[in-house]
Amino acid sequence: MMRQYELVERVQKYDPTADEALLNRAYVYAMRAHGNQKRASGAPYFSHPLEVAAILTDLKLDDATIVTALLHDVIEDTDTTRAEIDQLFGPEIGALVDGLTKIKRLDLVTKRAEQAENFRKLLIAISSDIRVLLVKLADRLHNMRTLEHMKPEARKRVSEETLEIYAPLAGRMGMQALRDELEEHAFRWLNPEAYETVTQKLEELRDRNEGLVEEIETALHKMLADVDMKAEVSGREKKPYSVWSKMANKQISMEQLSDIYAFRVIVDTIDDCYRVLGVAHQTWRTVPGRFKDYISTPKQNNYQSIHTTVVGPRHQRVELQIRTRDMHEVAEYGVAAHAFYKDMQKMNGNGAAHGVTSKSLVFTDKESGPYQWLRRLVETLLEGSNPEEFLEHTKLELFQDQVFCFTPKGRLIALPRGATPLDFAYAVHTDVGNAAVSAYVNGRHVPIDTRLRNGDEVEIKTSKTHTPPAAWESLAVTGRARSAIRRAARDAIRRQYAELGRRLLISAFERIGESYSDERVKKVLPRLSHKSLDDLLAAVARNEVKTEDVLRAVAPELAATARSAAARPEEPGKAKGWLRLTRKLRLGASSDAEGQPGTAPAGRVRGVPIRGVKNDMPVLFEAGGAVPGDRIVGVLAPGEGIRVFQIHSPRLKEYEHERWIDVAWDIDPENPERFPALISVTAPNRPGTLAEIADVIGQSGGNIDNLKMLRRASDFTELRIGLEVWDLAHLNQIINGLKAKAVVSKVERVFE
Ligand code: MN
Repeated sequence: MMRQYELVERVQKYDPTADEALLNRAYVYAMRAHGNQKRASGAPYFSHPLEVAAILTDLKLDDATIVTALLHDVIEDTDTTRAEIDQLFGPEIGALVDGLTKIKRLDLVTKRAEQAENFRKLLIAISSDIRVLLVKLADRLHNMRTLEHMKPEARKRVSEETLEIYAPLAGRMGMQALRDELEEHAFRWLNPEAYETVTQKLEELRDRNEGLVEEIETALHKMLADVDMKAEVSGREKKPYSVWSKMANKQISMEQLSDIYAFRVIVDTIDDCYRVLGVAHQTWRTVPGRFKDYISTPKQNNYQSIHTTVVGPRHQRVELQIRTRDMHEVAEYGVAAHAFYKDMQKMNGNGAAHGVTSKSLVFTDKESGPYQWLRRLVETLLEGSNPEEFLEHTKLELFQDQVFCFTPKGRLIALPRGATPLDFAYAVHTDVGNAAVSAYVNGRHVPIDTRLRNGDEVEIKTSKTHTPPAAWESLAVTGRARSAIRRAARDAIRRQYAELGRRLLISAFERIGESYSDERVKKVLPRLSHKSLDDLLAAVARNEVKTEDVLRAVAPELAATARSAAARPEEPGKAKGWLRLTRKLRLGASSDAEGQPGTAPAGRVRGVPIRGVKNDMPVLFEAGGAVPGDRIVGVLAPGEGIRVFQIHSPRLKEYEHERWIDVAWDIDPENPERFPALISVTAPNRPGTLAEIADVIGQSGGNIDNLKMLRRASDFTELRIGLEVWDLAHLNQIINGLKAKAVVSKVERVFE
């Protein structure tokens, strides 16, 4: 294991200003925190963060990153808290370690191949600082190097994840060498036979063709010297994974691949590239179909080079990649290296001074300091965006306009920032969105308009009978959710009005002893100047067409009696029995045997059935509400639907008796709902009173929806409590419970 002073020395070698005391403290702290913990290999756990730190010293990272590497597992794997890290190492390191902890928690989520791209974005978004990603990549590299100690299933899972998420991320960050090493490890564990075969083949080839690489190199040098050209020539060792993936992608055999030798020719100018090409084609026979000019037509990722294959000495096929040094840097280290290289040229007036070796991950530049290239990496990740408008230091603001959340099964859903569980539900599926009633984020029940954060796990509870209220449109931020809500609400309103119109007609038909059917009404549609049944029904509901007019059209001879027989609910005290509590009368879209849509129900229910607060018809509960068991009266409010009043509600008197309509409770015992009721409680004004009252209501299973305090006298308070209860018995139970309390001086139900 690396000693404390060795680590410090390594850092000081490239950054003499590094905080030695900080590094020492982190070393000791992490070692103690991990204590006797062991890795799967049996080695002390601390050897892992230490190795990760060592990898990062190769990358010449700042002391904060090295300290973060040492501490990267302490929050998740030991008793240490974020607050302690902040206190001991400062908030900057605290935030970095926190980022790694968040990523580690994400590791528990299943990652499917098809969501790899989103997962990489999530990693970047959650990291918020490029150094978090660098520590994570180093962490992953060390874990891959020591994967043999893990169980086979874990090896497979970690390797797949590495190949799908981390290796491409390293590639995106321009770290080709890191990418190569991750891929080689992953390949070895994912496909051991293939790895073995390819490796063996490559070794055989090396033995068989001993001296061939040097021979080709010499020939190339000679060819170029003959035309007086300066160039750097290097043969490339093939890596098992890249050979394998070429075989897989291009459907060619190992034999076809392995007899190709690849050489890079690096020259100073683009002109030189084409000169080298000309000379090579004159000297050796070309292999048809293998010439590609990515200089005049660069690849999407800015890769530029000329590729050609010739038949070289010993009749071996030789692939040549001809490019300028500038192009070479881009090819190996991405745009980051490119920008870096430009900088170097400015500084030294000579690009060749910039030494990048492909064997290690080192950017061996002294002058530009350890942080310069970090910024460049960030710029790489930004891709098309303008680097000038960019972040200070290493802050990542990439994908900050997006949040990435998971379904309970681990599906990754990308949403715009500010999105709510409602947006999430619609992103999963329109049907899920339309049926969404409540949301759980990370296991906690939250309002449906809660802003989601990266990595949240969101569970949506749905109900088949639910329709999104139109007001929910403002709770959603995605266009998809908003337009779906608009559509669903519009459809629901149309359905509700049609159903209300139908119920009004059923009542009207019953009163004259006729039975209603959709068919009968459809026949008279032209006479009533309506195109569709639903249109007419909705017009009836909106009071634009009188029920009497429909009756007259359907049964002219009987309609005369309709007016005189027009049974309206009678005023309280005048008659009994107009109210009927019906059980489970199915309406609307349901096709239950108990009531077919479009026909008068067999049970002779008179009045428009009131099923619940969330109705299949536009129903509003007015002034103090009403609960099942109450005698109720409806009033048709044009454009709003039916207002339901408890029969003693003083507000009911504001409406002429003529406008009253028969309504009847129609409660579905399988989908019980709470209904609104208002009570007034008078109690002495002293501490603890409210708690006691709330306790009685809570104990009885009542829900407080609203609370107002009206000071009646200095020593007494009147509380107006809006309740949600199941029915009248439930409400009375609560009222009686309150009356029994010594602290309560008066309780009554009120309607205003
Ligand atoms: Mn780790």
